[in-house]
Amino acid sequence: MKIVFATGNRGKLREAQEILGGAYELVTPADMGLTEDIPETGATIRANSVQKAEYIKDHLHTDCFADDTGLEVDILGGRPGVHTARYGGPAKDFDANMDRLLADMAIAEKEASVARSYGLNMIHANRKARFRTVVTLIVNGQMQLFDGTLEGTIAYGKKGKGGFGYDPVFIPDEIPTADGSLVPNTERLTLAELSEEDKNAISHRGKALRAMAAYLNEK
Ligand code: IMP
Repeated sequence: MKIVFATGNRGKLREAQEILGGAYELVTPADMGLTEDIPETGATIRANSVQKAEYIKDHLHTDCFADDTGLEVDILGGRPGVHTARYGGPAKDFDANMDRLLADMAIAEKEASVARSYGLNMIHANRKARFRTVVTLIVNGQMQLFDGTLEGTIAYGKKGKGGFGYDPVFIPDEIPTADGSLVPNTERLTLAELSEEDKNAISHRGKALRAMAAYLNEK
């Protein structure tokens, strides 16, 4: 069965193909001749995910799915959230995004600490954060949504060379062992220090895609 995955990212395509297995042939919009940017103007991750999948369905009239991911940081009140991709500017540059995140968190922590020293508020500053992915699948015109989250904390600096996006500053709470079980991430490794396989085993997108694969395989 052929399905269009609304992405231009070959790494994501490979990850999704591995999770879905050989029964599904994943192709990109570009493979089908659709090369324009797919609009992402929603106010939430979910709205953007649905918007991208509907755009593919309306333009290519085919079964498809789209993903959208946001990073929610507690001390920033859930930001960058829907603004995750362009947090550091319109160029979507990974380093600029991480630099703005670390700078904003440093300010928020300082403010919380000053406020606490004056007894002005009860907020306990922490660096808890999560990635949240929503995958929207449209098969035979029927829409289904799948969620995946990854809990962790934001590091004080960048560490590691692997992955992409915010991986060098994201420390997952748990990491996989050789037998696939999860253990606390006592070494505080960032996602950029994990193998691609280990990251995919715990990632927000991996979870949402595996939920979609289970649904498709049951159909
Ligand atoms: P998108 O929805 O996949 O385009 O991702 C939105 C933003 O989240 C982009 O800035 C990505 O770099 C970032 N992002 C998405 N998934 C990951 C991930 O697995 N690790 C780090 N950053 C990610």
